[in-house]
Amino acid sequence: MLKIYNTATRKIENFKPISDVVKIYTCGPTVYNYAHIGNLTAYIYWDLLVRALKLNGLKVKRVLNLTDVGHLASDADEGEDKLEKGAAREGKSVYEIADYYIEAFKKDYYSLCLTEPELWARATDYIADDLAAVDKMTENGFTYETFDGIYYDTSKFEKYGDFARLDLAGLKAGARVGFSDEKRNVSDFAVWKFIHPGEKHAMRWDYLGRPGYPGWHLECATIIHKELGEPIDIHTGGVDHIPIHHTNEIAEAFAVSGKELSRYWLHCNFITIDGEKISKSLGNTYTLAELSERGFSPLDYKMWVLSGHYQGTRNFTFESLEAAKSRLLNWRNKIAYCHQCDIESDRDFADVLEKVSNNLNSPEGFAMIDNATWSLEDWQKIDDLFGLDLIKSTPNISEEQYDLIHERESARTKKDFARSDEIRDLLASQGIAVRDTADGTVWEYLK
Ligand code: AMP
Ligand code: ZN
Repeated sequence: MLKIYNTATRKIENFKPISDVVKIYTCGPTVYNYAHIGNLTAYIYWDLLVRALKLNGLKVKRVLNLTDVGHLASDADEGEDKLEKGAAREGKSVYEIADYYIEAFKKDYYSLCLTEPELWARATDYIADDLAAVDKMTENGFTYETFDGIYYDTSKFEKYGDFARLDLAGLKAGARVGFSDEKRNVSDFAVWKFIHPGEKHAMRWDYLGRPGYPGWHLECATIIHKELGEPIDIHTGGVDHIPIHHTNEIAEAFAVSGKELSRYWLHCNFITIDGEKISKSLGNTYTLAELSERGFSPLDYKMWVLSGHYQGTRNFTFESLEAAKSRLLNWRNKIAYCHQCDIESDRDFADVLEKVSNNLNSPEGFAMIDNATWSLEDWQKIDDLFGLDLIKSTPNISEEQYDLIHERESARTKKDFARSDEIRDLLASQGIAVRDTADGTVWEYLK
């Protein structure tokens, strides 16, 4: 059974599902631009989580949201709206921007062979539910109105800040003088924002007789409430979500239903690139398309991600991506070998699953795969666990190609090296290498 590090308790715990279907919610992307490789790491690790749960015999219902309502660039309800920014940049409407980048995100998602969530939930499809939640929070005495919008009074939720171990007194002391005007507590946040006359904000809905839009955290609490029902089993996100986004989701869920939002919380760490933060100004916000231009497939990148642990700080370099690519080719060639000889495993696949079931320790699982011999049947299981498209991308070669290999062997016996080289080159042009070993000729994939 699975063991996972639960951010809520700061401990590794035995995972015990609430019912026979594990309910999972994954905070998804804000769809205003292409995802960079840092954004994509989370979905790769949570794909491993889902696959490990399934291989442990559990059923999964997972919801992944798409934030197509612009929220403000900073967590503190200030700054520029990301979707408005995308629209201005490209001379399109916010709705066109959202549609376009949802498709782009899904294209990346599928190219990484990630398990389809049971539901993709678009934030704009839940506005009426958001408003019902705001009403409920108000009815339960958790909100107050300011010039700016409807705010959550965090002093009303006794456990506010426990999840992130926030030092609320310290926060208060460190707050800027005159911080957002009418807020009662420094940690209070908007659940609904008003749009004032003359303010530009294309996405707007009517509430209390005036236009406005939801605060960022609300969509997740609302979608979970409606589609899964709290408490869910597992909530996932990036480490940056702990102090504000998830803290506020928990507070909102409590104000609406009085319930805990999720039993287990998993957070993945950030990657750096060449030791630097990912940032536009450094020009290191690579997309999968940019990796592909440099000769790396999405699955090479997935291999790179899974070769490190989700809680570790990872440093991406093209050198380490090259190593991941070679490892993937090496695994595929072990599968190619299984097509040629009857190979038996000298280890049990259950040992790999056990490694990965121990807080998603993919690097140790990978090392075990490298250091053992596996049958074709076990490679299929390895593929089910990691989703690397190993089997499909390593088909057996055709009969014509086998005939060519035999013809080359007899040419070599007859010392007809011209013909033997010609056949080798022909096979190479089809992506197949031939290697002469003590046991005879073996074919492999060149790339
Ligand atoms: P952004 O669009 O930059 O706000 O990123 C959206 C989400 O992607 C963040 O909330 C993080 O959880 C995740 N993310 C951003 N940068 C990285 C990174 N360098 N490594 C891992 N995850 C990241
Ligand atoms: Zn969320």
